[in-house]
Amino acid sequence: MLSPDSVHVSIAPAMASPRSLRELEQASVLSLPISPRSRICASAAAVHHSPAAAPAREPLESIDDNCCLICMDDFSERRKPYPLPCIGACTGASVHYRCIMAWLGQSGSCPLCRGPCDPLAMEPTQTLDFADLKSTVMRPVPLDAGIVRCYVKQVYKGLFKQYGYELYLQGRIGTDEPDQFLLAAKKQLRKNMTANYSIYTTQTCDENTRVGRMGSNFLGTVFTMYDNGRDPQKIAKIQDAGNGLDTLGPGDNVLQIREELGCCTYEANRTSVGPRKMRVCIPDVDEAGRSSKIVRPTNPKDRIVNRMSVGELTDLIKFINREPVFREDLGAYCLDFGGRVSMASVKNFQLISSEDPSMGNVLQFGRVADDMFTMDFQWPLSPFQAFAICLSSCDTKLACV
Ligand SMILES: [Zn+2]
Ligand SMILES: [Zn+2]
Repeated sequence: MLSPDSVHVSIAPAMASPRSLRELEQASVLSLPISPRSRICASAAAVHHSPAAAPAREPLESIDDNCCLICMDDFSERRKPYPLPCIGACTGASVHYRCIMAWLGQSGSCPLCRGPCDPLAMEPTQTLDFADLKSTVMRPVPLDAGIVRCYVKQVYKGLFKQYGYELYLQGRIGTDEPDQFLLAAKKQLRKNMTANYSIYTTQTCDENTRVGRMGSNFLGTVFTMYDNGRDPQKIAKIQDAGNGLDTLGPGDNVLQIREELGCCTYEANRTSVGPRKMRVCIPDVDEAGRSSKIVRPTNPKDRIVNRMSVGELTDLIKFINREPVFREDLGAYCLDFGGRVSMASVKNFQLISSEDPSMGNVLQFGRVADDMFTMDFQWPLSPFQAFAICLSSCDTKLACV
């Protein structure tokens, strides 16, 4: 019988604790197996960064550069033009980000010349703004920022050296841009033995920089993310007692009921062979990143987890994990991580929209060293949500079935 541990891609030799992903990539660039995809990435990067070296091209005069050549709709401030990520001879053609992602999800080839394309070669027209880290990490990343490439490092935090995790945005490939710290998470075990993560915008996890929390059920199969608000049951107790405000930490929002920012559930595969099933729901947001409805339940039946169990999913966006394919030659379940993952782990996963799988991987998480994972994600997730979903994958007890 195969265990879920066999979910993997090709294995590179592990190395001792690199300090950053860049260091890891430099150290292991020769030891990593070269996939056709990573060759494509490398050549695309060369074309994009050294225009002088690009081959001479025929001018494409017939192309109307005011509209997307896939959907023929005009470009706008919110839906900006992207250069076609064609590795062949197509220049001057522009598309919408979502249109080309949907196209590549179906065919993988250039819509104009049918040559190879690579979504990772697309230069985003928007970047994340770090002037206000707290609001940047809580907002969905802009649709036009494309795929945001990050990595997660496992660290030991606190007096009892519990596991903690830190999230970094990777400097753009082919530049000297430094990596940017985004979030840190600290795990606490509660009295009832369920896990609770607090998430901060400082590496030192200062209480006044906490942006939210994630809690799990006893079985470690359901995880809910919250902002800094309070559990409505605790608020009721505080109000009954007349005064319980001395129990509040500095990051607590005194009597504000907490907002639910998402929920992840894990389920063993029914046949008990093969990978676990993962479901994620977040409150709906539009393409500009505005939420249509804030989920702040006072009644347990309105909690996202309870709505997921009865299928009442109005105003929620649903994601599922991509099902790995069993490969006879490797004797294992495999996902194509496009060269971004190099170690087998049951924690590896790819999340797709259950309504619009053509958007491709909304979140991809995979191990690259004993204590390091790559985390690539895109709209509609916020850095906080993407990080919390990955923490749940690291924490779920279904991993050790
Ligand atoms: Zn379009
Ligand atoms: Zn082309």
